[in-house]
Amino acid sequence: MIKYVYSFAGGKAEGKAVMKGLLGGKGANLAEMTNIGLPVPAGFTISTEVCTYFYAHHRRYPKPLPVEVRSALRKVERVMGARFGDVTNPLLVSVRSGARASMPGMMDTILNLGMNDTVAAGLIRKAKNDRFVFDSYRRFVQMYGDVVLGLKPEHKDETDPFEVIIEGKKKEKGVELDSDLDAEDLRALVAMFKQEIKKRTGHDFPEDPEEQLWGAIGAVFGSWNNDRAIAYRRLYDIPESWGTAVNVQAMAFGNMGADSGTGVAFTRDPATGENRFYGEYLMNAQGEDVVAGIRTPLPIPRMKKENSRIYKELERIRKVLERHYRDMMDIEFTIQEGRLYMLQCRAGKRTAFAAIKIAVDMVREGLISDKEALMRVEPDQLNQLLRPVFDPREESQAAAKGRLLAKGLNAGPGAATGKVVFNSPDAEEWKKRGEKVILTRIETSPEDVKGMDASEGILTARGGMTSHAALVARQMGKVCVAGCGSLQIDYATHSMRVNGKVIREGDWISINGTTGEVIEGKLSTRPSEVVQVLIDRTLESREAPVYQLFARLMFWADKYRRLRVRTNADQPDQASNAIAFGAEGIGLCRTEHMFFGEGKIGPMREMILADTEQARRMALAKLLPLQRADFEGIFEAMNGKPVTIRTIDPPLHEFLPHEEPLQRTLAQEMGIGYEKIRQRIESLHEFNPMLGFRGCRLGIIHPEITEMQSRAIFEAAANVRKRGIKVIPEIMIPLVGNVKELEDQERIVRKVASEVMKETGATIRYLVGTMIEVPRGALTGDEVARVAEFFSFGTNDLTQTTLGVSRDDAGRFLIPYVQREIYRKDPFEVLDRDGVGALMKIAVEKGRSARPGLKIGICGEHGGDPSSVEFCHEIGLAYVSCSPFRVPIARLAAARAAIAGQTREKKRTLRRSKPQRTSRMSSSKRAAAR
Ligand code: ADP
Ligand code: MG
Ligand code: MG
Repeated sequence: MIKYVYSFAGGKAEGKAVMKGLLGGKGANLAEMTNIGLPVPAGFTISTEVCTYFYAHHRRYPKPLPVEVRSALRKVERVMGARFGDVTNPLLVSVRSGARASMPGMMDTILNLGMNDTVAAGLIRKAKNDRFVFDSYRRFVQMYGDVVLGLKPEHKDETDPFEVIIEGKKKEKGVELDSDLDAEDLRALVAMFKQEIKKRTGHDFPEDPEEQLWGAIGAVFGSWNNDRAIAYRRLYDIPESWGTAVNVQAMAFGNMGADSGTGVAFTRDPATGENRFYGEYLMNAQGEDVVAGIRTPLPIPRMKKENSRIYKELERIRKVLERHYRDMMDIEFTIQEGRLYMLQCRAGKRTAFAAIKIAVDMVREGLISDKEALMRVEPDQLNQLLRPVFDPREESQAAAKGRLLAKGLNAGPGAATGKVVFNSPDAEEWKKRGEKVILTRIETSPEDVKGMDASEGILTARGGMTSHAALVARQMGKVCVAGCGSLQIDYATHSMRVNGKVIREGDWISINGTTGEVIEGKLSTRPSEVVQVLIDRTLESREAPVYQLFARLMFWADKYRRLRVRTNADQPDQASNAIAFGAEGIGLCRTEHMFFGEGKIGPMREMILADTEQARRMALAKLLPLQRADFEGIFEAMNGKPVTIRTIDPPLHEFLPHEEPLQRTLAQEMGIGYEKIRQRIESLHEFNPMLGFRGCRLGIIHPEITEMQSRAIFEAAANVRKRGIKVIPEIMIPLVGNVKELEDQERIVRKVASEVMKETGATIRYLVGTMIEVPRGALTGDEVARVAEFFSFGTNDLTQTTLGVSRDDAGRFLIPYVQREIYRKDPFEVLDRDGVGALMKIAVEKGRSARPGLKIGICGEHGGDPSSVEFCHEIGLAYVSCSPFRVPIARLAAARAAIAGQTREKKRTLRRSKPQRTSRMSSSKRAAAR
């Protein structure tokens, strides 16, 4: 029989941390904390399988569920010594959602459930604290009204009806804070709330605790498919099929008075990664008061003075958690009358800086291995390390001139400059127009995630380090300054007042997410520490702590990765940047970019416009020395590392002017009539250039082009060799779909090579290979490999030709395609494994069947995308090649793929050697292990 409910009560739990799929993250960790002896209020988790069942059966529950819930609830009652719905000794619970992956702010929790008038009376008799009771009561009615009965406003300009009532009450009493309201006021609020509910829904507020419980459970499951949840899942790639769990848990009351409170914390600093306790708490408060920005919370270190006993206990738990989970944790706790309770823990979200620092530190502290450290840093996070910072001089000058507007919390490091917008739709629109924007809001909510995504940075007036804005910004790797209290934002006029100034929509501001400073106007940015050390060489590595962490991580990555990492570079400076980032060769040198260089476009056009072979050869003769010099520069920069050079690829008309005035100038320059030029250009016009006269087709029809390029390459190689620099050119013929195309071009290359070697007396080792970028080339990989000494997957074109989608024309439909999950990701960003990947596998297999040692790599844009790198590892490529700034990302991705592969392999052998284990597992354990 399937088990649907898992309890955690009295120091023992049926679940554990690894059961996130079944219990959700929150439930699994509540179970784990219970099992390791931490003080967790008793409760139980209704599994995600119920959610799946719920949606598969017209929102009905599995039959055994009510019985299982009842018996789990009885257990909670026994442990807590109170009864749900009882009049003399009532138990109140929270009902909390919890998906496998955390979805901040997506689904709302209901606290103090089980409350009604008679229960309240009983609780007052027991607790002798009527303020606490009515505070709990009014919170419950509000949350239940909002979440279960649907009173929460849909639109962000509307206000919560309960908040309106509270504001009215506070005004009437002349107080500012909720905590200034007394028991009588709160009791009045309860009545008014219920009246409002009756008015809006036509129904009385449900008094029966049992009915309340099932209402709340249903609302949690229902919320899995609300718009916010769906939008969030889409953004973070969370499959709908996962479902959410529901946690029902005995309340710990942080609102019982001055010796009660609630807080959130990270076991290390989530912004910098520093090993210090980091968080906020509020006394006499409940639930999300800390992060809601109603009252200003206190920093955790303050507790050391104010309540050293609790602080010590928290500090102890912090250590226990870090040692147990071997990670930086994000925790929620509540203090009820001097007793500490843990309400949640999960691996903490962190900036890239923090991720790397924590990973490296934890290796030093002996908590994790270097392999684990690598698995803790997402390759894309390295982007943040490479991101620019403000020029500090300019920043301090701006401050000196009074342009420092305000200071908030440094919630997401980095430097961002942009124009102010005050809502998310605007942010998206402006971004579409090509503007850089800073999304500025009083606070953000889940509706804002798309706008946040479209912004350079996020600035909020309210909320702490754990507010929605801060959390989501860190996850996105956005620059963020949060809780900047001195901003007076007026959405209606699209402006804000700050520091005596008025900033309007469209004005430039700059935010420093590392210091929390907000500066008026535009500031120029400056390269990151890593870039300063490696590329600009303006900083010594020993003065660069961030660089050192980066270098350590890269050192470990290089130790484990099997894939080599090359770069796509056409110029010597790009090549040396890439080497500084760890590139081990050039995987793609596009020769056509060179023709746009100084002095080259003229002869290039002459060549293209030539009528006769002789004229073409004359133009090519002018290009030869120029191109030779380019190659020499690259060979020198690469200093013996392999360089793959692709012969000319794009359609020739890309090199010609298309507007009349420019064509006239060209005619003049070349001393030819305008009409002739115009006609020639027109004759080169193609209806579908992507599939037209390009790639090896050019060199086959005009062999003199390939001859010239080969000569330039080999002469450059010979010259460089004379200077004692090793060089192994790899000549790559593009767009080959038929081995005969390659044969044709190979013959030319080899002929020129032996000519040059004879002329110069140098012996040059070189390879001739091809790009695999049309399906026929992949499908006939065995034939192609008889000639080709290497393959390089040109996955940009291979994606275009496999999907039959022109990348340049895809804008209009590809985004909707991804939204509708026709493709899960933009196939030009993330390799389409099922289609393009399948072709790659065929090419690898066939290619190696004909030539066992065939060297195979990838040089498409995908070579810098972590998931695609992983795939390349899995299908046994030798290297990936990507743009210089993505080289570190590819190195890390390659290491992670290798480590993941080892882990999978280990699991497989373990399973094979111990088959009896599974069969001995009890049925409940098997259910748990699923
Ligand atoms: P979220 O997933 O949005 O973090 P939670 O379920 O963690 O939602 O709950 C929201 C708030 O309510 C948190 O501050 C949490 O600590 C608090 N809370 C939840 N359950 C209880 C409980 N049983 N006792 C006291 N506080 C609780
Ligand atoms: Mg919430
Ligand atoms: Mg929580």
